[in-house]
Amino acid sequence: MASSEGGSRICVSCGRSIALDANVCEHCGHDFRAPAKEEKPKTVVPVIGGVLIILAGLMGLAMGGILVAIDVDDLDTYGVDVTGVTDVVEDILTACGVIAIIVSLIVLLGGFFGVTRKHWGIVIVGGVLGLFVIGPFFLGSVLSLIGLILVAVSRKEFE
Ligand SMILES: [Zn+2]
Repeated sequence: MASSEGGSRICVSCGRSIALDANVCEHCGHDFRAPAKEEKPKTVVPVIGGVLIILAGLMGLAMGGILVAIDVDDLDTYGVDVTGVTDVVEDILTACGVIAIIVSLIVLLGGFFGVTRKHWGIVIVGGVLGLFVIGPFFLGSVLSLIGLILVAVSRKEFE
């Protein structure tokens, strides 16, 4: 099987001369065809990371909801004197609640993209914002931090 045209080249495997257009070295059998397109390795790491960030987002959403819904007048019942500051305090709490809800929605979006292995940058933003959820016993921040680390180490799996 001699190749008349196209010249020759040196086999990278055995060093002998072979036809330029040969797919397989006739001397040593080395295969020059590009290896089958490698699938991206898929693990559950980014999915777990995304779920943790989603949990932090839900926690932030709940806290935001509580802040918006809280009725400062009720604090009277617990012996807290809120005379004269009720409206201001309630406005501040509502504003904080609304901000918390908006931030939590971004956190949730980031977590969702983590689960679907898309938009790595948005997942990181969501995870970082999730750190500010804090939550009871810093649970929200801890969940976000772990999620963030899992997403960061599995960047290769993202589209
Ligand atoms: Zn060869």
